[in-house]
Amino acid sequence: MASHATLADALERTADLHPERDAVVYPRKDQYWTYAELDRKANRLANALADLGVEKGDRVSTMLFNGSEIVVAVYACTKLGAVFNPLNYRLPAGEVEYIVNDAESKVLLYEADTREAVDGARDDLETVEEYVYIDEGVPDGDLDFYDLLASASPERPGVPVAEDDPYAFIYTSGTTGRPKGVVHEHRNMMEHSLLCIAEMNLARSDVGLSALPLYHCAELHANLFPRVQVGATNVIHHEFDPVDVLDAIQTHDVSVFFAAPTAWNGVARTAAETDHDVSSLRLGLYGAAPMPKEVLDACMEHLCEEYVQAYGMTEIGPCGTFQSPEEQRTKQGSAGLPALNHQVRIVEPDADPDATVEQGAIGEILFTGPCTMREYWNRPEATADSLREADGREWYYTGDLGYRDEDGYLYVVDRKDDMIVSGGENVYPAEVEDVLFRHEDVVEAAVVGEDDAEWGQRVVAYVVGETGADALDAFCRESDDLADFKRPRAYYFVDELPKNPSGKVQKFRLRDDEADAGDVESIDV
Ligand code: ATP
Ligand code: MG
Repeated sequence: MASHATLADALERTADLHPERDAVVYPRKDQYWTYAELDRKANRLANALADLGVEKGDRVSTMLFNGSEIVVAVYACTKLGAVFNPLNYRLPAGEVEYIVNDAESKVLLYEADTREAVDGARDDLETVEEYVYIDEGVPDGDLDFYDLLASASPERPGVPVAEDDPYAFIYTSGTTGRPKGVVHEHRNMMEHSLLCIAEMNLARSDVGLSALPLYHCAELHANLFPRVQVGATNVIHHEFDPVDVLDAIQTHDVSVFFAAPTAWNGVARTAAETDHDVSSLRLGLYGAAPMPKEVLDACMEHLCEEYVQAYGMTEIGPCGTFQSPEEQRTKQGSAGLPALNHQVRIVEPDADPDATVEQGAIGEILFTGPCTMREYWNRPEATADSLREADGREWYYTGDLGYRDEDGYLYVVDRKDDMIVSGGENVYPAEVEDVLFRHEDVVEAAVVGEDDAEWGQRVVAYVVGETGADALDAFCRESDDLADFKRPRAYYFVDELPKNPSGKVQKFRLRDDEADAGDVESIDV
């Protein structure tokens, strides 16, 4: 008999214990649902999906912006044992086609704002039997989300779901290649929620704001799930907007908020210019990229004093390390310590899990922990490459490079595939980009290696900004932080950098010359 709680059990427990607490606040549609109501709505959708023929193990995809509906959808799937598959709402039709076909989904939920991409893909979606639309004006032949809710039973469906059943296929962001479907089980997520609850000191009295995308594991797994588990309130914004974030903090007494550093920057800058009351905010969570010190200082000055950083990736939950509020000052620049029940190793890139490097040396970051994915869906080779056994444990190869200091704190250096070897010296592009970013005319910069007869590879920079190669070269030469072998030897001035729909630069496209380089002005320096 199974005795471990699933994600569905977590919602049901909260609904039973705290039925009248506010679960979902979605101002855009004027929806204010208690936990009892959220639970009933998830039951209704689960029963409606079951009536449509969705069974345990079947995939249900969503192409939804943030809203109450994606919350209902994910919990409906957990109650049925169906596999939730949230797509990035900014994906173009071709990517929708790729992921939905790869996941072999039976149902696709979508809305007015994603209709164009869904319509573009529709003819090529081989496995989808039902399309569910959440807005008014449901296209002919598709189903109306709110009609389904109204007509189905609010009783719990009572499907037995086990802790090791897959809960979702979450596709990676596609920064280093095609997105891969990460198979997460219920128990990974239950363990992961506990980590987040502990690190953020989450309590029932908290009010969280989801303004970053709920299709991504950072918002969904590190924020929504833990909040539902403790019975906290979830304020939901369709999309991120700095002014809306400040309005929500003031109106709904938001106490915890997660965002990537660029979004925190926008909120802090806006707060400096407006007079919102943000006194309810007690804690900020950030991740996805390192937080520049100036941005953290601005956040501390204008928003709240305490921040927690998480580092990780879709495959491990995502949170693998946490940096506590105190460590923002004492271990600036670090990603913190391994999360509870996690271990980190640094090994020679791609080498066995036993081939650890000396303390302080840079190598590939490996994790072992209870939240790691089961596998990549349909990709046995990629799975075998990234999950390897040693010492009775399974180690996940992150593809990120980093090192640990004498106290065990992890520092993330760059992605392994992005490292440049020039004249036998390793160059980490992030370091070079950091220097370029400090130049006031540089809007964006991405540094990659280019084949070179003499040096093997040479360092080149793609830059967006109104400046010239000579000025940037002089700037780099003057910098105390850049050894001469790291200095870019050529600059390409482009209108924009190739990015995935989450906004991360896809360097493989720059390396493969796939980018639309616009007016290329290559100046050798
Ligand atoms: P794909 O795997 O498809 O190429 P992706 O790796 O960008 O895409 P995600 O799982 O969304 O997909 O992102 C994880 C990556 O983001 C990590 O491997 C790491 O490079 C970066 N990252 C996440 N958190 C941090 C952080 N706190 N500091 C620095 N980098 C981070
Ligand atoms: Mg990745």
